[in-house]
Formats: sequence, C-alpha cells, structure tokens
Amino acid sequence: MKIICVGRNYVDHIKELSNDKPTDPVIFLKPDTALLEDSKFYYPSFSNDVHYELELVFKIGKVGKNIEAKFAHKYIDSYGLGIDFTARDLQSKLKEKGLPWEKSKAFNGSAFVSKMLPFQSSMMENNIAFHLNLNENLVQSGNSSLMIWNVFELIEDISKYFTLKTGDYIFTGTPAGVGPVQRGDLLAGFLENEKLFDLTIL
Ligand code: MG
Repeated sequence: MKIICVGRNYVDHIKELSNDKPTDPVIFLKPDTALLEDSKFYYPSFSNDVHYELELVFKIGKVGKNIEAKFAHKYIDSYGLGIDFTARDLQSKLKEKGLPWEKSKAFNGSAFVSKMLPFQSSMMENNIAFHLNLNENLVQSGNSSLMIWNVFELIEDISKYFTLKTGDYIFTGTPAGVGPVQRGDLLAGFLENEKLFDLTIL
C-alpha cells in the first residue's frame, strides 16, 4: 500500500503559502509507515511547527495504470478525510535548499485517515463539502469543486507514473486555513455535516 499526495490543488492555499500555481499536478508519496488510523497523533521530536492539512482522501479499489479520467471512478472504492501532517519548519528548510520534502511530509503517522465511506455515483457531480474544527473552532472548510484538478483528473495523471493498487490512498490537497497544532489539541473532521473523526494531538 502506498499513499499518494497532491500538493497545491486549491488556489486559496497556494496563495497563503506564496507558492506558484502549478501547470501539472504536484505529486509526492508517503510510505505505508506514515499511515495513522488511530485517534492519536504523537507530536514528533524533530519539529516545533507541525501543521494540519485537511484533505479529501480516496481509497483505490482495483489495480490500474494509464487510467483515463472518464473511467477513473471505477477505480475508487471509498472516500473520507485525512490529515496530511506537515513539519512546516523542516519543509521550509528543505524547500529553500531545493531538497526533497520527505522528512517533513512522510514521517511516521503523518498520513491520518478517517473512517471511509463507500464511493457513490452521486459524487461524480464533484461537489463534496468538508471542514475541520480545532478545539471546536472552525479552521478549514473546503469543497471538491474548488480543486484545480478533480480526483478523476488526478487519477489520470498519477496512474501515468505510478500503478495504482488496491488499498492505495490518494490525498487530494488542502484548501486554505492550514495552521499549527499543539500537544493537547483536538481535531474533528466533517464530511458534509457528518463527523468522520476525532483526533487528539499528544
Ligand atoms: Mg497536503
């Protein structure tokens, strides 16, 4: 199982980090050791500025490569929410030097996934609202319609380079509103108005 992440997929988030709008999807990977399905995130020792990034996550249901966007829905098993935890201080240093991001993005527990819901054909309309509360205050809200590349276009692009396998996860990028977490914080993620997770920072 691998975790494929998309960066810079919402214009408002690109602006908040002063990044350039990409001409092709920005893709990076996290190893299976990054997956966190427990409701506890342990703050890593190597960072003082870990950020939450709430993202729509899709789980792959069958093997495929070179998948056309119009057939991509057939490869999705389920969907839910995830947090792409990012050691922002470390990432900034790596970006400055033009080095790979993995230490800041792919560390143990950096890919939290919520419970997953079965993929439904109604999602083809691509209008999924989601939001994140931090200690009961709204900090991020997004809608899949605001993505630069929707999940079907992302699957087309990703599967040119990486064969998708059953059980893989795709993190589709974060909207604006990213920010730091502290030990003791409680994150709660909602898809439409259904709470999909509670996650404590330890
Ligand atoms: Mg992200």
